[in-house]
Amino acid sequence: MLNDPRSHGLWEMTAPPAPETVAFSGKAEADVVIVGGGYTGFSTALHLAERGTRVILLEGAEIGYGGSGRNVGLVNAGMWVMPDELPGVLGDLHGSRLLELLGNAPRAVFDLVAKHAIDCEINPVGTLHCAVGQSGLDELKQRAEQWARRGAPVRLLDAAETAVKVGTDAYAGSLLDMRAGTIQPLAYARGLARAAIAAGAQVFTASPVTGAERNGKRWTVNTARGSVTANWVVVATNAYTVAPWNEVRAELVHLPYFNFATVPLSPELQAKILPEKQGAWDTKEVLTSFRFDKRGRLVFGSVGALRGTGTGIHKAWARRALKKLFPAIGDVAFEAEWYGKIGMTTDNLPRFHRLAENVIGFSGYNGRGIAPGTVFGRTLAELISGAIAEKDLPLPVTDPEAQSFRSAREGYYELGAQIAHFAGARL
Ligand SMILES: Cc1cc2nc3c(=O)[nH]c(=O)nc-3n(C[C@H](O)[C@H](O)[C@H](O)COP(=O)(O)OP(=O)(O)OC[C@H]3O[C@@H](n4cnc5c(N)ncnc54)[C@H](O)[C@@H]3O)c2cc1C
Repeated sequence: MLNDPRSHGLWEMTAPPAPETVAFSGKAEADVVIVGGGYTGFSTALHLAERGTRVILLEGAEIGYGGSGRNVGLVNAGMWVMPDELPGVLGDLHGSRLLELLGNAPRAVFDLVAKHAIDCEINPVGTLHCAVGQSGLDELKQRAEQWARRGAPVRLLDAAETAVKVGTDAYAGSLLDMRAGTIQPLAYARGLARAAIAAGAQVFTASPVTGAERNGKRWTVNTARGSVTANWVVVATNAYTVAPWNEVRAELVHLPYFNFATVPLSPELQAKILPEKQGAWDTKEVLTSFRFDKRGRLVFGSVGALRGTGTGIHKAWARRALKKLFPAIGDVAFEAEWYGKIGMTTDNLPRFHRLAENVIGFSGYNGRGIAPGTVFGRTLAELISGAIAEKDLPLPVTDPEAQSFRSAREGYYELGAQIAHFAGARL
């Protein structure tokens, strides 16, 4: 994508082609203009177009250019915050609504994929959150207990069961979440775009929005070669925001995250490592994630950016860590490497913003955006079409709050990940 093999890596190599799109030019009218072409933008576009709303989506680069085309592809249920803590942070009403919405969000993704026959390597076989040491296991016990109390199909596995499911005895246990699964993330973004276009949405790429102005009761958003006037603006630019809604970006600290994809592993290795093909990650602060793609490549990732000294340090770490976890893998070759920026909020919870009258959006998914972006997009469509009111939303309306020392913290994450992986004492 954009001739940068380190931006979308394996997903760009293996995704079905994007629907054909052109840059926007001229003047156009719509009911809703959506800015940003990731899961949030395309889910909003699809659900609005299906209701007969006239939608124009403007993407600054390409379909899935942001987090939606670069992520690990773990279709998770819920957030990082413990289920029992959510009502305390958000209040009972929003806390329980968000839990309900996000707990069922993977199912919404799987249903959407089936409904629109999206070719995206969907694999709803669950995920494994793997415990590092006793403290990791204690955390997972709490999570398991809290979700089970809410009727979620989760199960805490002991070390022996985990060793069989993951193919290593490195973990003290794991949490199997049968609501979740894996996906080819860029293929999903492109498939959503295709479905939105089929439903009647107009999609333009290479069309960054540079400004927006109030025009009576309507909004006019500008690109280099034209403008769109609409009743509503959906800001779906999230962690990859480029002007004009810089406040959305200022609220997020970028956490870099990389992935390496091995060559397809032998059938013997695939029978040992994650034999049931769940997606997996661990409880460490500088976490490690791993999952297979459809061809049997192991996608192995962690915190860090593949640029400057980071490239060599993280690659050397990935080789060591892979061999330590799965000795039989040996000196396996990598076929692809890429990284992206995760948008983190202060409390690890997403936000709903009304940036001005009829200018709205969700953002700040903290590395959990596949299922949330999909259901938040649907929610935006329901709000705009009047099916629900603002008081029915799963999150309160808040103003964006710029994070202090943002650049310093972003530098700290990038450098800290290099130090952690250079030292490499722990996996
Ligand atoms: C490396 C990595 C790993 C991750 N792993 C996971 C995971 O395993 N599971 C999970 O659920 N989530 C994961 N995430 C998070 C997830 O990818 C994101 O939360 C999700 O993709 C956000 O979708 P979005 O549509 O809101 O934003 P994005 O996909 O980031 O899309 C925003 C779009 O807006 C466009 N844009 C910005 N400014 C403008 C402008 N002015 N005009 C027009 N367009 C503009 C950008 O070009 C971009 O395409 C990960 C993220 C990263 C980066």
